[in-house]
Amino acid sequence: MDTAYWHPFANMGAVRGHALSIVRGEGALVWDDEGREYVDATGALWFCNVGHGRAELAEAAAAQMRELASYHTFGAFTNPRAEELAQRVAALAPTDGARVFFTAGGGSDAIDTAGKLARAYWHISGRPEKQAILSRSFAYHGVNAYGTSLGGIPANAALFGRLVPDVAQVAWDDADALGAAVEELGADRVAAFVCEPVVGAGGILPPPAGYLDRVQEICRAHDLLFIADEVITGFGRLGEWFGSARYGVQPDLVTVAKGLTSGYAPLGAVIASDRVAAPFWSESSTELFRHGYTYSGHAAACAVGLANLDVLESERLVERVRELEPKLEEIFGPLTDHELVDEVRVVGLLCGVELNGDTADRVAAEALKRGVIVRSLRNAVLQVSPPFVISEDELGRVAAAIRESLDVVG
Ligand code: PLP
Repeated sequence: MDTAYWHPFANMGAVRGHALSIVRGEGALVWDDEGREYVDATGALWFCNVGHGRAELAEAAAAQMRELASYHTFGAFTNPRAEELAQRVAALAPTDGARVFFTAGGGSDAIDTAGKLARAYWHISGRPEKQAILSRSFAYHGVNAYGTSLGGIPANAALFGRLVPDVAQVAWDDADALGAAVEELGADRVAAFVCEPVVGAGGILPPPAGYLDRVQEICRAHDLLFIADEVITGFGRLGEWFGSARYGVQPDLVTVAKGLTSGYAPLGAVIASDRVAAPFWSESSTELFRHGYTYSGHAAACAVGLANLDVLESERLVERVRELEPKLEEIFGPLTDHELVDEVRVVGLLCGVELNGDTADRVAAEALKRGVIVRSLRNAVLQVSPPFVISEDELGRVAAAIRESLDVVG
């Protein structure tokens, strides 16, 4: 029977009849419906930080669902798991003070929330003309209206017309370009600047030395909110709880998702610094942030988030990322000697293998035949972002499959 399932980011004409059904996982391994084993070198879509098949996360969801799966948290309603997870996330946050607003689906909702919150903040601070939001080339901020408009991968926005007004983009690696754009638009019209500490889907691009410091200075000097999109880099991916901590910056707003639950339940959040929260939280405030999702603070999803943080802490998995970073250099660095490889970029437990020519799609397809899931980004870069529990032996299998695949394609 023909499929009824419409895959995201897929050319269904080509995919139908050729789908790969993943049915089981354990650690950094997954299996398809025919029993074939794969090393999951991508942590699915950069999210499975604690690894697949964790019974304790499943138990946490089941226990909470038996008690109360969820109840809404609009207005004065709350639940203990949402409260506890907000406290835990606030304690880890790289912001100056932290209030945690949970979103339902994941990172795209978090970005929409942050964009609206930034604009609302200026509105209720008496400066409603500060509405423009600046972002970077190569950025990926998800697929809702704000994320589509702020993204820096043009193909992702091409079919949809103008979604969010007052957005503009600057070169991903040039802080002066941000300064110039603010001057041109007028600081009194700009609400915020958003960036990923390390560009993810745009190609695994770590920031040039000093870039984030400089960007933070520009935001402070011109009174813009600095939004760090940590949907990939949050919860340990760069060897610190947050990418902002690794680079020593303190954003005003932080968006998170993926690693918050390692994908065991869909959940995202915006972490707001004291500065942004203050006008909404003061006792004299008459303003409400008229925004929220039916499943904001979903009890079972938050229970999973708590169990996920327990695993990250008790197994010291963030420290493990720090230990693995130099191993990643050792294991993947030598790929630069291959004629198809331009550069290998390692940061935390992320590795981007930049290829010359448009070959990454074909290389990833060959690696899959060899039992390794890597992903092609823009047909130019191979994405390696495995679960934090991956072994050195499994990393070696990934590098070997990439090399063999490069040989076949080259
Ligand atoms: N922001 C960044 C940096 C991302 O990498 C992603 C997803 O990959 C998103 C936002 C969107 O997240 P989601 O797909 O969970 O909506």
